[in-house]
Amino acid sequence: MHLGIRSFSTSLRSTMMLSTLGKSEVSDDERYVDPMHRLDTKEFYIPHTRTRVYLFATPMHKGSKEHLAEKWAYTVKDMRRPWSSPFEAFLLHTDNPNIHRARLGLAWAKERKDGTQRKATDWNGCESRHQRARQEEQLGLLRPLTSWQEAGICKGLDWTWNDWLLSQTERVLDLLEISTLRMAKDGVDSGFKACIWNVSQNVDRQTGSGRTALAPCLTPNMIPWVATRRGPVTGREALAIQGIPVRELLLTSENEDQLADLAGNAMTTTVVGASMLAALRVALGKISEGQDAAGDAAKIEAEEATADDLVAKGIVGEEALTSHDLDLAKVATADLAEMLDLAERSSRHCQCEGQSGTASPIEECSACGYRACKSCGGRPDHQYASCQGGTRGV
Ligand SMILES: [Zn+2]
Ligand SMILES: [Zn+2]
Repeated sequence: MHLGIRSFSTSLRSTMMLSTLGKSEVSDDERYVDPMHRLDTKEFYIPHTRTRVYLFATPMHKGSKEHLAEKWAYTVKDMRRPWSSPFEAFLLHTDNPNIHRARLGLAWAKERKDGTQRKATDWNGCESRHQRARQEEQLGLLRPLTSWQEAGICKGLDWTWNDWLLSQTERVLDLLEISTLRMAKDGVDSGFKACIWNVSQNVDRQTGSGRTALAPCLTPNMIPWVATRRGPVTGREALAIQGIPVRELLLTSENEDQLADLAGNAMTTTVVGASMLAALRVALGKISEGQDAAGDAAKIEAEEATADDLVAKGIVGEEALTSHDLDLAKVATADLAEMLDLAERSSRHCQCEGQSGTASPIEECSACGYRACKSCGGRPDHQYASCQGGTRGV
């Protein structure tokens, strides 16, 4: 008798099977019962609409009244805990070094693929559909977000990820414009709404894009655009929206495509966890005890203690350290004017600046004080003059 949990996913369904008996032990009067249940990620803490089929299968004798599979289904449903945080809580801050790296990676990969930056592509097939959508929905002809043009030119608003936009096709850029206009038509500035638009979809299939706080089903090939960020969801964030603890993973050699692929094919950990717990709960009686359960547990504990000891022994040279007094409140030599100057010089002058570096040259609007670097600034118009903020890079 054995207990095994298998999970596998196809494009249409994900399945989890808990078998309490080996197949060879199943006789003719036994059969597997396998009611399938659709479980949705947003019912299990995470703000992500993702419905997958889960299956609990266990052998059942004819006339048996155990109904473990039904019990499992009820137990899983009892463990539901609907989402209450927006998907933004699972995203990284825009000045996070991982975001900076992802931006470089996304722009670089596209550049490599195409040889140069974005070229004008043939999108005749979709163009007429886009035109029809603009006409039928009375959206007009404007391109307020990216102001893209046919020759591969694109200049997004100052705070958009223009490097990423430059690597996108006309179809994607125009769909971003149409989505922006659709919300503008309802009097909504999409830049202030936490929505994820799937811009890999066709113009007339893009439904539910105005839904806020909840992520649509992330798939390996989709292009998820975050309206408030004015940039895409990065691969690392897509993993987080699947409940995978990205902070504990060493993700250094995987590129953005591979991370998005991994996340798009993954099953959500909170749903898998609930299913497994429920399965163990209802089928615990079916699992035979080990030969020496208490002995095995003690052995595992002893092994863990040895591993901890090894780590502790790895720290050497402690006796060579010297001790000094530390006064965290020491302000005797601080000059307020100098501190304010340093604070001003180290403040963020453009949205592209972050923990990973500063930008130059910086320009400042003489009318409103808005600052941007020369490559990001430009839309909307300001009365720019060279920034007088002193030397940067403190
Ligand atoms: Zn900039
Ligand atoms: Zn201005």
